This record gives sequence, structure tokens and C-alpha cells, in this order.
Amino acid sequence: MENPKSKIENRKFRAALARWFHAHGRDLPWRRTRDPYAIMVSEFMLQQTQVVTVLGFYARWLARFPDFQTLAAASEADVLHVWQGLGYYSRARNLHRAAQQVFAHHGGALPDDLAAIAALPGVGRYTAGAIASFAFDRATPIIDANIARVLARLLDLREPIDTARGAALLWQAAEALLPKRSGRLHNSALMELGALVCTPRTPQCPRCPVRAHCAAKDPAALPRKKPRRKTVALAEDCAWIIRDGALLLAQQTGPRWRGLWKLPALATPARAAKLLLALDYPFTHHRVTLSVFATPPPRETSAHQRWMPIGEIETLALATPHKRAILRLLATS
Ligand code: SF4
Repeated sequence: MENPKSKIENRKFRAALARWFHAHGRDLPWRRTRDPYAIMVSEFMLQQTQVVTVLGFYARWLARFPDFQTLAAASEADVLHVWQGLGYYSRARNLHRAAQQVFAHHGGALPDDLAAIAALPGVGRYTAGAIASFAFDRATPIIDANIARVLARLLDLREPIDTARGAALLWQAAEALLPKRSGRLHNSALMELGALVCTPRTPQCPRCPVRAHCAAKDPAALPRKKPRRKTVALAEDCAWIIRDGALLLAQQTGPRWRGLWKLPALATPARAAKLLLALDYPFTHHRVTLSVFATPPPRETSAHQRWMPIGEIETLALATPHKRAILRLLATS
């Protein structure tokens, strides 16, 4: 991209990109549909999860909740249960609330209106633009991780892309490259280029359809980001309490994992308590060690706790690390 303002250059860029996409773009289920609901579901799922993982969840979700109306009418427990395994459950809650708002305020059909889409829960600038462009073919700029990487390399951008200035430069570039109409093809192709050719560690420049427009001198070193925060270690101690073939579980009421089930928390494990299992999982910039201790049954349980028959545990929406711990312990007991 010698001059991002050059209309001719941009037209050539788009034509080369589109030709490549027609020949090499993947046939993904959300690219085959124009249903705004299905596209919105895919965009929520893809926010923090890779394509290959989303494929199975997407099909299962649409079979269970085929439209805004069905999702709006579902219980939160059902929604969380079907989402189970994808993680980042706030996405499921937001999608549920968004469906309720579409049903209540737009008669069950997503409007072809960027501002109305952006006003829905869990829909940020990227997701709104993606839905507008993929469902309604709007010429709206979008920037996800793949597009950010491609643009940063095309521009040979030295500014960290997670600074306000870096982000503004990327949005400017995305806007400049955009065609006047048919945003769907352009945005899909740019995203696909980042996923298949302009990959994070080993960009395949010799076979890149837009290499004539690329200014990157050391593409693998781009995009730049601000230095990362240090990882902080955290401990999470939990109780393993079985009585009459049932496991004691606690439903979460706080903002993190609200509505999901976990092993009951232990403020301080008894000194003699036997450690049954320890596993690590990441949470934002933390590394959490989940330790599970064999614990005697309490005299009474709290309002948020429930004895769950072991054969029925998998019907509950469990916090993913706790599900891993429970299944491992059940498999060895
Ligand atoms: S030439 Fe290389 S760095 Fe530039 S856009 Fe293509 S793959 Fe990415």
C-alpha cells in the first residue's frame, strides 16, 4: 500500500484481494448464510474462540436456539448450559440479552442499522461492523486481530496497535481501503488473508496476493504491542464433598461466572485435608492454581449450594476449570 489515499492503488488492492479470496477463502457455515441472527451468533462465539472450536458449538447452538425468539424465551440456565465449553460466559449472557432486546424492540428481526446493532449488549465497534457488513453487506470498516495484523504490516506501522494512536491509524487505514459498497466480500477477504497468509509468526509473503502493496520490512515483528503486564499467581482452594452418591456444588452469584456451578470454595483448607488434585488455568493476567481438598460434609448447606447426584453433574452449567477438575476426580475415584 504505497499511498493509502490513492484510489487507484486501493482499487487494485481490493481486486487482487477479492480474486484471491474467491479462489482460496474457506467455506465456513456463517459465510453461507445471510441470516442476521446466525451471523450474530457466530460473531459472539468468534470473539475469543478459534474458528475450528466454534464450528461444532455454532451448529449445536443453532439447532437448539434457531432464532432470536427461541433464544429470547430460553432460561439463562439453558443458555449457559449450551454455551458450556466455549468459556467467557459473559458472551452467552450478552447474546441472550441482545436476543431479548431484538425481540422486544425490533419485532424479532435485527434492523439494518449500525447504530441499533451497536446499542445491543456485548456488541462493540468490531462486532457491530462485522454484523452490518456480513449480514447486510454494509461498507463498514472492521478490525479484528487478523485485520489489525494485515493492516499494520501493509503500513509498516511501528506504533503499538493497542495504543489510542495506533488504533486510530488502523481504523483510518481500514476506512481508506474500503469499497463504497459490498463490505461483506472486502472484510471477509481481508480477515481471511490474515488467517491464512499473513499469519502471526510466519507470514507467507511470496504467495501473498497483495505483496505489491505491502510496506512491511520485517513483517514477523509486526504488529507491535505495549509491553505485557506480568502474570500474577493466584490460589483457589475448593472442597470435594461427596455424600450418598451426590457431590456438593455451589452456584456463583458474583459477576465472574454468575449462574455457573463450581466446587464450594474453602477459605482455609483444614490442615489435615488431603489434596486430591491441583490444576492451573489462566484468567486475564493471572495464573490460577485450583486445588481440590477432600473435605467432610458440612452440618448444613447454604442457599446457593446443592447436592448434585453424580450421574447428573454434566447437565449443569459448570465453570470450565471446575468441570475439568470434577471429571478428572470422578474418573479416578
Ligand atoms: S506481503 Fe507479507 S506481510 Fe505483507 S500483507 Fe502479504 S503476507 Fe502480510
